[in-house]
Amino acid sequence: MSDYETPLTPCPWCGYPLDRATPLEEGGNAPEPGDLSLCFNCAQVLVVTEALGMRQATVEEEAELMADAVARRFRDQLRARDRRKVTP
Ligand SMILES: [Zn+2]
Repeated sequence: MSDYETPLTPCPWCGYPLDRATPLEEGGNAPEPGDLSLCFNCAQVLVVTEALGMRQATVEEEAELMADAVARRFRDQLRARDRRKVTP
């Protein structure tokens, strides 16, 4: 997977500084306004804004992303990593 650099934006959910985006699909496109994304830190769903910043996804937008099996698996991986981090 290749990363795309994005303007540094704090996650609107957890405040984690986000400065890159990884397409969920190999060879995916760079982030565009309206795209759905996931926070690397808290695994909450984000939406790319016009200025390539991030805002919190609505319940409807989250449901749209979670209809995608690849996105669900990626989110599970992020959450598994977080659990490992907080458990010594
Ligand atoms: Zn976050």
